[in-house]
Amino acid sequence: MDFEVPSEVRERLADVREWGKAAVRPAGLEADRNGAPLPVDHPYFVSCLERGEGCTRWPGIGRKARPSQPGATVRTLLLAEELAYWDRGVIIASPGPGLPEGNVLSMGTDEQRERFLGPFLEPDRPRWACFAMTEPGAGSDAAAIRTVARRDGSHWILHGAKCFIGNASRADWILVQATLDPEKGRSAQRAFFVENGTPGLGPFKIEKKMGLKAYESTSFGLEEVRVPDSHLLGGEARYERSAGFKTAMATFNAGRPVIAANAVGIGRAALDEAVAFAREHDRVEDPRVRDRIETMARRLKLARLVCLRAGWLADRQRANIVEASMSKALAAQVGQEATALGMELLGLVGGRGDHLIEKLYRDVKAMDIVEGTGQIQRMIVARQLVGLPRDRG
Ligand SMILES: Cc1cc2nc3c(=O)[nH]c(=O)nc-3n(C[C@H](O)[C@H](O)[C@H](O)COP(=O)(O)OP(=O)(O)OC[C@H]3O[C@@H](n4cnc5c(N)ncnc54)[C@H](O)[C@@H]3O)c2cc1C
Repeated sequence: MDFEVPSEVRERLADVREWGKAAVRPAGLEADRNGAPLPVDHPYFVSCLERGEGCTRWPGIGRKARPSQPGATVRTLLLAEELAYWDRGVIIASPGPGLPEGNVLSMGTDEQRERFLGPFLEPDRPRWACFAMTEPGAGSDAAAIRTVARRDGSHWILHGAKCFIGNASRADWILVQATLDPEKGRSAQRAFFVENGTPGLGPFKIEKKMGLKAYESTSFGLEEVRVPDSHLLGGEARYERSAGFKTAMATFNAGRPVIAANAVGIGRAALDEAVAFAREHDRVEDPRVRDRIETMARRLKLARLVCLRAGWLADRQRANIVEASMSKALAAQVGQEATALGMELLGLVGGRGDHLIEKLYRDVKAMDIVEGTGQIQRMIVARQLVGLPRDRG
């Protein structure tokens, strides 16, 4: 592995650092203080658009996609770490086609890309999209979802409920994972575009969260929601056996090292705050304090290397399933350890609940939950190590 960060990436990281300090962290602290997501009309979102963010990677009809640059995944991971350093909740709150964009790019028809990604080419206002898999009875076991889709002439009717879906109430459209037959498991799953305002979609309930308060995690119902045939992602012809489930899992696989990088970023912020606190309070002469700081730094560096290794393999189109899952399992744990060690160092100050490390301590927990919990990642790695298939079938 080459450890040199190209100068173009270093410049981009420096830009993110400035932006993070000036805009991202203040927005995150504001949301945390208010205990509520940043409102849709928050000036932060407008400034994202002014910076050219919130857009799709899709080039538009008849335009060729820019060839992906060498090292693109590692670059993404370095940026994901730096952004999360400033505020991971604000990053997820930021406008854009978000999690489902990859699925629409890889699986969508030309018409679907135009209709659903087109408005993100030059967004006239902050716009969001989101991906809804999790249900009250189906989290880790995503194959167990119960939201059903049934055909009705040239339409589909969706019925069910989703929970903890990021940015759902403000999304222009939600890519909803549903099943044609709950008894048939993964092969019967399909993804549907459901536009905001479609009758039967809602009500939206923003959930209470311990951290990452800047973005909304929302539950909603789908009460006999009617969508046209053209809203089935990729169209029926694209669905071979089990492709429906694989589509969703493709999103998750790509995301795991990014979540790992986020966890490292949050942990690194805790480390910097811990060092600053120790200096300010004349604690650096205490070997117990230095020991905590050393543990945080060493473990974070280790997690970062495993994470970058997962990205390095992806950039070479080499299988990275073990490294991707390992990086998430490890980094989420290390991020939690780092923030916990930071809390120990704060002592009573941490208990007051108004120090940044205390916020980071609450924020980082979700890195162990989203897109496959730590246990699930470890199960995936273990199955690979003994030669069993990734999923239970
Ligand atoms: C902040 C936040 C944001 C989220 N955003 C989204 C989103 O945008 N879209 C979306 O679809 N979902 C989202 N989710 C949901 C998330 O993906 C689920 O919470 C996650 O998959 C875990 O599911 P669960 O909470 O139902 O836990 P469960 O699956 O019930 O698991 C509970 C515990 O049991 C363990 N466990 C479960 N199965 C096994 C097993 N087979 N072996 C060993 N241990 C096991 C788990 O590791 C966990 O510790 C979000 C969740 C959070 C907290």
